[in-house]
Amino acid sequence: MHEMGIAQQLVQIAIDSIPRDIENPKVEKLNLRIGRLASVVEHSLTFCFEIITKDTPLENARLDIDVVPVTVHCKSCDNGWEVTGPVFKCPFCEDGDVEMLTGREIEITSLELADELKI
Ligand SMILES: [Zn+2]
Repeated sequence: MHEMGIAQQLVQIAIDSIPRDIENPKVEKLNLRIGRLASVVEHSLTFCFEIITKDTPLENARLDIDVVPVTVHCKSCDNGWEVTGPVFKCPFCEDGDVEMLTGREIEITSLELADELKI
């Protein structure tokens, strides 16, 4: 279950981003962006998150996951489009040097502390 490693990284980043001058910080909500191709199972991530955040400022924080669609860009004809299936050939020039722009990210967009201070 690779979600455990991801959860640990996210928690570490979140804890590091809490300003040190806040006493007993409590995170209410963690906003995440996770790409459709990042292979993260949402309920597994939530499960791991709940286990490892016990006795940390993130205990009981909610995870708000924004699923990022897969978008690609064709370097040959400069078109960009959203991919919904496994086909990665350019539909405009039928060929192309295609690169993925979004769809694999796993990142924290923001976290909300209990006193409504936003970081
Ligand atoms: Zn193209």
